[in-house]
Amino acid sequence: TGGVRATFEARGYTAWDPTSPAFILDNPNGTILCIPTVFCSWKGEALDKKTPLLRSLDALSAQAVRVLRLFGSTAARVGATAGPEQEYFLIDKNFYYARPDLLNTGRTLFGARPAKTQEMDDHYFGSIPERVLACMLETENELYKMGVPVKTRHNEVSPSQYEIAPLFEQANVATDHNMVIMETLKRVADRYGLHALLHEKPFAGVNGSGKHVNWSMCDDQGNNLLSPGDTPHANGQFLVFLVAVIRAVARHGDLLRVAVAHAGNDHRLGANEAPPAIISIFLGDMLEDLVDQIEKGTVTSAKKGGQLTIGASVLPVFRRDPGDRNRTSPFAFTGNKFEFRACGSAQSISGPIVVLNTIVAESLDYLATELERVVANGGDVDREVQSLLQKVVKESRHVVFSGDNYSEAWHAEAERRGLPNRRTTVDSLADFVTPKSIELFGKYRVFNERELRSRYEIFLESYWKTIAIEAQSMLQLAARSILPAALRYQAEVADSVAKLKAAGVSPPKLQLRLLDELVAAIEELQANHDVLAEIMAAWDDDDDMAHARHSRDVVVPAMNDLRAVGDKLETLVASDLWPLPTYQEMLFIK
Ligand code: ADP
Ligand code: MG
Repeated sequence: TGGVRATFEARGYTAWDPTSPAFILDNPNGTILCIPTVFCSWKGEALDKKTPLLRSLDALSAQAVRVLRLFGSTAARVGATAGPEQEYFLIDKNFYYARPDLLNTGRTLFGARPAKTQEMDDHYFGSIPERVLACMLETENELYKMGVPVKTRHNEVSPSQYEIAPLFEQANVATDHNMVIMETLKRVADRYGLHALLHEKPFAGVNGSGKHVNWSMCDDQGNNLLSPGDTPHANGQFLVFLVAVIRAVARHGDLLRVAVAHAGNDHRLGANEAPPAIISIFLGDMLEDLVDQIEKGTVTSAKKGGQLTIGASVLPVFRRDPGDRNRTSPFAFTGNKFEFRACGSAQSISGPIVVLNTIVAESLDYLATELERVVANGGDVDREVQSLLQKVVKESRHVVFSGDNYSEAWHAEAERRGLPNRRTTVDSLADFVTPKSIELFGKYRVFNERELRSRYEIFLESYWKTIAIEAQSMLQLAARSILPAALRYQAEVADSVAKLKAAGVSPPKLQLRLLDELVAAIEELQANHDVLAEIMAAWDDDDDMAHARHSRDVVVPAMNDLRAVGDKLETLVASDLWPLPTYQEMLFIK
């Protein structure tokens, strides 16, 4: 609770959320009525992820409606819409139960690279394995029964990795439904002898799992406010909403980064499979051209997509989009919505949506205030929009980037542009409690300072606790699984060498070398184990930030050292003696 609800002040309240439909959960032994509910403390402070989300939706609506009025709309309410694409792994549950690291932490803490992983893309482009497809179909049926509108299923890049995506909904409902999707994936997988892994990085060396959060704004008359339409250049209202988002990300990219900062996501962000920790925007050809025109002062035209012929007469002519897509950007415009790609697969999408709603509300507030002043003085909104947007685009342009976000060059370029690059959770979290953040969330009544600080503490504490549990699990695996197997094999090889000697044969050099290698690796395993064990025993500071820094800078490197030698032993020790299911088995037995 981050100090908001201590044991001696434990009263709390719940209230039904009437905007998210109740549903009935089927269980083999009964049915349960589930009612989406908020949870707050005796003083009214939010203790959940729903209350701030509902508050941020109010903030967004209030500011968006002001802008709409200026353009003659009669809408009374604006909501955010969201469609989260959920990635996950399915592995045989026997392997899951045989891996204490997966059970304790959701990811493998040891595991040598198998001969083959994802280099042929044959899982990605292959058909869905039959057992998995059966499991997916039942998951979908269960979800339909609870009113969750899922529509997309496919294989993902890593072997045994998959994706499920719903039809987008109101952001609050989409957030609840994503939780239901994650629960249902786990529940149904079990019926097929599978286990669903939702962790961001269950396996080293292959792709991890993210959750792309597609986000837009929609008024109560059903208009998507980020839909460019056929003549976006002449649509002042669209341009205001677009520029509001650009301004929001330019000013508060650090908060979007905070919203996806947790130990699991540190394994993913910045690796060559997920966007970097630098938050930038991809707009695509058409919008980037519009933004160029705005910057120059007059917007006169919009690029058209045109037609695409493929060359075979039996095939149809396509209507081509006005711009290509960029899969490396953390925040990309995709047709009529933005796709925030930095979220982790295991996290609730509430946090990222709360941040998006709030920072965009602030920019809409700013733009509405400027424009309302013009109107009050009898000015012309359309003329004023041009010069206002020009000013804002000039201030915010540095956050727009269309190149390869995975490249090293971008890191240097981003630094030149002054964009923050918070590589780890620990680097990022402090941005949550800066005066800028406290003022922003306070002004729009999304978090008061106490709520913000309590969440900051919770995030820090979850970070170091996650790493502490991983370190303890590693110590146990190293001492009780890997070391005994390695010692047994060492004895076998030593025995074989001794027997050769006894038979009067001088043992071949390579056999002696194998023995030496084993002896050395076992020595290193024990030494690295002891280093990590000492680090874990010595720490007694109760300052959460100090603890988190120590976890990142001291514990994690010691874990990496221990893993390296454990994985080396896996490549030396006889496979019939190896006590843990291997990557080969977990990733390829489908
Ligand atoms: P891709 O994998 O090509 O990015 P998907 O079809 O898997 O695309 O997922 C796109 C997601 O975006 C879907 O959940 C879809 O419902 C959602 N989406 C589409 N339009 C909107 C919108 N206006 N607001 C929010 N989400 C949207
Ligand atoms: Mg998808």
